[in-house]
Amino acid sequence: MHCPSDGAVFASIPRCDGGDVGRAVVAARRALEREDWARMPAAERGAILSRLAALIRDNLESLSALESRDTGKPLRQGRADIVNAARYFEFYGGAADKVAGETLPLQPEALALTLREPHGVVGSVVPWNYPAQIMARVAGAALAMGNTLVMKPAEDACLSVLAIAGLALDAGLPAGVWNVVTGYGEEAGAALADHPGVDFLTFTGSPEVGTAIQSAAARNHIGCTLELGGKSPQLLFADADLEAALPVIVNAIVQNCGQTCSAGSRLLVEASILPEIAGLLRQRFRALVAGPHDRDLDLGPLINEAQMRRVDAFVREAETAAIPLIAEGSIAPDCPPGGYYVPARIYGPVPASARLAQEEVFGPVLAVIPFADEAEAVAIANGTDYGLVAGVWTRDSARALRVARKVRAGQVFVNGYGAGGGVELPFGGFKKSGHGREKGFEALREFSALKTIVIRHD
Ligand code: NAD
Repeated sequence: MHCPSDGAVFASIPRCDGGDVGRAVVAARRALEREDWARMPAAERGAILSRLAALIRDNLESLSALESRDTGKPLRQGRADIVNAARYFEFYGGAADKVAGETLPLQPEALALTLREPHGVVGSVVPWNYPAQIMARVAGAALAMGNTLVMKPAEDACLSVLAIAGLALDAGLPAGVWNVVTGYGEEAGAALADHPGVDFLTFTGSPEVGTAIQSAAARNHIGCTLELGGKSPQLLFADADLEAALPVIVNAIVQNCGQTCSAGSRLLVEASILPEIAGLLRQRFRALVAGPHDRDLDLGPLINEAQMRRVDAFVREAETAAIPLIAEGSIAPDCPPGGYYVPARIYGPVPASARLAQEEVFGPVLAVIPFADEAEAVAIANGTDYGLVAGVWTRDSARALRVARKVRAGQVFVNGYGAGGGVELPFGGFKKSGHGREKGFEALREFSALKTIVIRHD
């Protein structure tokens, strides 16, 4: 494993292949059929998850340092991620025994009811940008519903996943219930997605790999949830509380160096306030500093060289297209050589059809796009292939409601921006951003199958 802050190797992990994946799936299947998991009362499963949450909190500092070093994110962001991981296990620990079926009206001589049963073996492929959080939202919900799990974290950052899965054994999770296979996507990831012993797939990552995962699910006739990318808009109307909005708008693109699926990467600004907003954001972006994770600055490095090349390509294209650069931040002068640093940048006005306004950069680059009126704002907001998150900033509550209902996104925040929101909020995309919902109670429905039973009687 390389630390993104200096490019130096600091750990090594196994490169698992199809054989390892096969053994993990067998272990998960056996655990599913064993008495100690399949017949464990839901409240006991929940208690194990709650104990795991407590162990994560006990180890908060060491896990935060590990997450921060592995991903390059500033230490306080790493800490926030680990706290959120604990929150997922607390939420799903408490929810495990609160999922109930229904009784349905049929005939007087028949009782019809529904049950929620586990899918069985869940296969999960996790990305590198929020390893601990995404691992916890999947594992928390899948295990709460009584599934077993084979998880393939990303080759670029997976150490917190290994550490927390280890803590799960200390919390009392029976062996074989949660299996982690490390390695490359095309080897271990593809083998897991294709394995006929997997009953349900969940994937978070790029739309390209999402397509491969969905194809594998179709071949094996199983369900899947896909959490893919985004080009999420924030709509800033002239009557908004700018003092409240601007720090949130900046954070939504700078957090995790812009490598966030729900990053607020498009700022749609009412044209009448564009010069004022450009001026205010120029000051804010100029003050942003990137540097090593352990210095806890505004931005850490990007995850790897490929991400640097990707961000550079967008920057060069913007220059070629003569899209004005409103401002850029700086890189701390004494960063270690070998780190993947880029400054935060803000461009505008960006034509709504430009690649910078349409495609996911996955870096700290904000595209400012002016709009004339509400109808145009909604049209621009909906004018990309994605639909993950949106923000609406206005003091006019009727307009806030109208716009929130018209924007095609899985989550819409009014006078705020949740960057994915809390653990309680269902999360997932419209359009190319994916399908299915994780987080909150919705995830418990996704990670279970509905069975109907009808009992005839006299
Ligand atoms: P990626 O799709 O390349 O990798 C994600 C995971 O998939 C990794 O574990 C990788 O090893 C694995 N993988 C790669 N090829 C595979 C294959 N053929 N079969 C099975 N698994 C394979 O994505 P990334 O570069 O890690 O992350 C960036 C993308 O992910 C961005 O587009 C971003 O928006 C998206 N993302 C979305 C969310 C969300 O919740 N919606 C969260 C994080 C990242």
